[in-house]
Amino acid sequence: MALALVVPILGPPAVGKTTLTLALGNRARRHTFRLRDQVPADVLAATAGTAAHLGWIGTDIVDQALHSYLDFVVQRDVDVVLMDNFPGSAGQVSLLLEAVAHSAPMARVEPLELHADSKVLRNRARQRRVCQRCEKDPVADPRIPAKPSLFDDWLCGKCGALLHFRRGDAPRLLEARTKRFDSSIDKIRAAFTANGVDIALLDATLPADHAVGLVEPMLNSRSPIS
Ligand SMILES: [Zn+2]
Repeated sequence: MALALVVPILGPPAVGKTTLTLALGNRARRHTFRLRDQVPADVLAATAGTAAHLGWIGTDIVDQALHSYLDFVVQRDVDVVLMDNFPGSAGQVSLLLEAVAHSAPMARVEPLELHADSKVLRNRARQRRVCQRCEKDPVADPRIPAKPSLFDDWLCGKCGALLHFRRGDAPRLLEARTKRFDSSIDKIRAAFTANGVDIALLDATLPADHAVGLVEPMLNSRSPIS
């Protein structure tokens, strides 16, 4: 079985993209792409945490990262690739579709867009915490939501360390990231549509396990594109 399906997971900050990819990706023959895992730490360090850059990464680096990532997964027993918060621009849609056509020409690309209203998003951003000790981020900017301890929701349930807000969830950064998403999503949708790729929508206010239950059948339908 070769790589059959690539699922870009899109949506505004704090809508639950990482949580969903963690739940769906935790299975044999699946793999999750996170752009920041695929680029050199010095590139990340240069772009981290400033409202002006917001982690923007240059086209050549993204293109190279995509190709080497896809070449890596097609050599392994991976059927489904989930892409956490990628592509982030219309330009990256083209890079992705070209890279898939090149490295895994039989694979389908089926994006999924999560949506929730702004009040839900603000609440989620306020509630989520990360663990600096469990997630060794190259620029100390962990992203993966941590499970808090049952006894103290500011302590990591796994290692006991003090949890922190995500750096990008600070109100000013969150607002800037949300604005950037709002200004780019229409172009991202249009770029997929122009290439004959439909985007599925998912109501992200649903409980997490319900959302996972809705998406699972899509990941398991393995019929190759005709
Ligand atoms: Zn921890």
